[in-house]
Amino acid sequence: MSRPYYIAGNWKMHKTRAEAADLAKALVTDLKDGKHKYLVAPSFTALETVGTIVKGTNIMLGAQDCACEEQGAHTGEVSVLQLKDLGVQVIILGHSERRHIYKEDDLLINKKVNLALKHGFEVILCVGELLEEREAGKAEAVCERQTVEGLKGVSAGDIARVTIAYEPVWAIGTGKTATPEDAEAIHAHIRKVAAKLYGADTAAKILIQYGGSVKPDNAAALMAKENIDGALVGGAALKADTFLPIAKFA
Ligand code: PEP
Repeated sequence: MSRPYYIAGNWKMHKTRAEAADLAKALVTDLKDGKHKYLVAPSFTALETVGTIVKGTNIMLGAQDCACEEQGAHTGEVSVLQLKDLGVQVIILGHSERRHIYKEDDLLINKKVNLALKHGFEVILCVGELLEEREAGKAEAVCERQTVEGLKGVSAGDIARVTIAYEPVWAIGTGKTATPEDAEAIHAHIRKVAAKLYGADTAAKILIQYGGSVKPDNAAALMAKENIDGALVGGAALKADTFLPIAKFA
C-alpha cells in the first residue's frame, strides 16, 4: 500500500507574526515543488498572517489545539468556529504538552477529535508513552489506549481525515529520537489497532507520523520504515534551514 508522506511543523508557542510570516514565505517558496503533504501549525496569534501566505499553496494551515465546545463561556479557549473563520484546515489534538502540562485526558481529547471532524477539519491525533511507561514495557498498551479512546465515535467515513502521530514523550524536544526500529514497532502496532477498529483496508490507508526530535540527519532513516508515513516536527520546524531538508527528504 503506498501512502503519501506527510510532514508537519508544530511551531508551538514561538514566533511573533512577523517572524511567522518570514518562515511561512520561505517554506512556500522552497516547497512549491515538494512531493509530500505539508502542514504548518503556528500559534493562534499568527494563524491569520500565516494563513494568508499559505492559502492556495501545497502547505496546509494547522492549529495546535481547539476547545472541546463550539462556543460559550470558556475563557481563554479558541473554538472550531473561530479556527474555521481563519481558514484553518487541520487541528493537532492530544499533543503530549497538552496531555501532560495541561492535564488533558483521553475523554477530553476524544471530545475535541469528534468536534473537529464534525466541523470538517482534518485532525492529527498525537499518542505516545512516557519514559517510565516505556521502561515498564507498557509503550504499546499506552499508545493503544490513547488511540482507541481518542477515536471513540469516529466513523469509518471520518477516519480518512485523521492522521495519528506517534510521539514518545521522552523524545520530544530532548534530542533523543526513538530508533527507526523502535518507532516502527509502535507504528505497526497502531496500524493493527486501527485494523481492529476499521478493518485492514481502511487501516492500510491511515497516515501515521513519527514525532520526537526529528532532524535533517535522522528523517530519511525513520521514514524508510514501512509504517512511518511522515513526521510531526517541533524544534527543527522553527527554521527553514532545518525544516526544509526534512520536508524535502527523498
Ligand atoms: C513535537 O512537539 O511534536 C515534537 C516532536 O517536538 P520536537 O521535534 O522538538 O521533539
